Amino acid sequence: MQFYLRNREHFEKRTDADVERSCASKDAYPTEAHARAVAAMNGMADVLYTYECFYCRQWHLTRRPSSSE
Ligand SMILES: [Zn+2]
Repeated sequence: MQFYLRNREHFEKRTDADVERSCASKDAYPTEAHARAVAAMNGMADVLYTYECFYCRQWHLTRRPSSSE
């Protein structure tokens, strides 16, 4: 039980950090179409892509990775 609790605490701390990085600091949109429309309005459609957030279940915009993939 103690082992479980320790892991759980570790997991939640990690999750908090991920939320901070991938969610809390970004605008969220209720649908993918909405997020894409905002990117297009800002002239960023080629630069940003949308993803459904694991935490808030809304859509965020994020920069495409600069790698060739
Ligand atoms: Zn989010």
